[in-house]
Amino acid sequence: MTTQVLTANQLKKEAPVFGQLSFDNHEQIVFCQDKDTGLKAIIGVHNTILGPALGGTRMYDYQTEWDALNDVLRLSRGMTYKAAITGLDLGGGKAVIIGDPKKIKTPELMTRFGKFVHTLGGKYYTAEDVGMETSDMDIVREVTPYVTGISESKGGAGNPSPVTAYGVYMGMKAATKFAYATDSLEGKRILVEGIGHVGEELVRLTAEEGAHVIISDINEERLEQVRLKHGVEIFKGDDLYTESADIYAPCALGATVNDQTIRKLKVKVIAGAANNQLANEEVHGPLLQDKGIVYAPDFLINAGGIINVNAEIAGYSRDEIMVKTENIYNTTLDILNKAKATNTSTNVAALSIAEDRIAAKKESNTQK
Ligand code: NAD
Repeated sequence: MTTQVLTANQLKKEAPVFGQLSFDNHEQIVFCQDKDTGLKAIIGVHNTILGPALGGTRMYDYQTEWDALNDVLRLSRGMTYKAAITGLDLGGGKAVIIGDPKKIKTPELMTRFGKFVHTLGGKYYTAEDVGMETSDMDIVREVTPYVTGISESKGGAGNPSPVTAYGVYMGMKAATKFAYATDSLEGKRILVEGIGHVGEELVRLTAEEGAHVIISDINEERLEQVRLKHGVEIFKGDDLYTESADIYAPCALGATVNDQTIRKLKVKVIAGAANNQLANEEVHGPLLQDKGIVYAPDFLINAGGIINVNAEIAGYSRDEIMVKTENIYNTTLDILNKAKATNTSTNVAALSIAEDRIAAKKESNTQK
């Protein structure tokens, strides 16, 4: 999966579409527009070798349409590797809807979006992501069966976030074991950035184990609620990344592990829920390795959510969901050990395992 580096002029001439932004051999990109409801969406199907592409729909007030396209390209690719490394028979896809959910999200818009998903005939299954609620997926379900994460009362697996948090917790414990020779989080100082659906549950799990949890969020009201509920500390300094701590858990948005933050971070472990934590994986994976920071790859440890929603397609039980999610501990440890043995970054070690699985399936498909 090496990316050919072309100059800007070469890109414009030789690869005016597929060579731009984060295109990485994506199979299909679908632009969807509906004037009546104001819907503008992009569905990205990255790879369907292992199975139908599954990935949530993110609704966000992107500054430009290019930002939205770039996001769906990056996120859908991430889903391919997430499903592959987790052993699920799923491909990678994702959708973005452009606009502020608080301002333009209506049942009519969600219905129209669901109809677009339906036109793909099951090549892409959608689910909830940032800016979406389970009730939105229920609306989509009325016009297409190709949606997961619907309400339990409607036969769905319900909110994936607590399962995602449990998987992140397992990955964090494995990375702690690798870095400190014990997986106990008792007494560890953990910075949790973003205390939303996943972050708060991670705060609960780690605080209950006796960790010293320090929380940060742009939502002050939530900070106070979570502090009171779980007895944790609110970060009061100017720069979270310079804080003395053992573990940094990015649970807000992506790209917070970058040139600036890596220079400042004092932690030994990075393990969190956010997608695409590394701003540039080819640069920042090796940089973390050089600095001796153990990075638990995001697409590996935040797979609890996809395990949860996949239960609706594959038909496995609640117990099986939790067993598969708990296994993130073993997979994480295997990958950290593999990265050490092969002297690669943990991100590359994880990607290569996922790529091997996809290549093997492709090979067996061509032999049929
Ligand atoms: P959420 O929207 O419920 O929570 C995000 C939180 O981050 C909010 O409290 C928000 O105020 C805060 N935030 C936003 N910008 C911030 C900033 N600059 N600094 C600090 N805090 C900030 O989202 P979520 O469902 O908890 O997901 C969190 C992350 O995990 C997202 O990146 C999401 O893509 C990823 N993820 C979620 C799931 C899931 O099951 N929900 C699964 C896999 C990955």
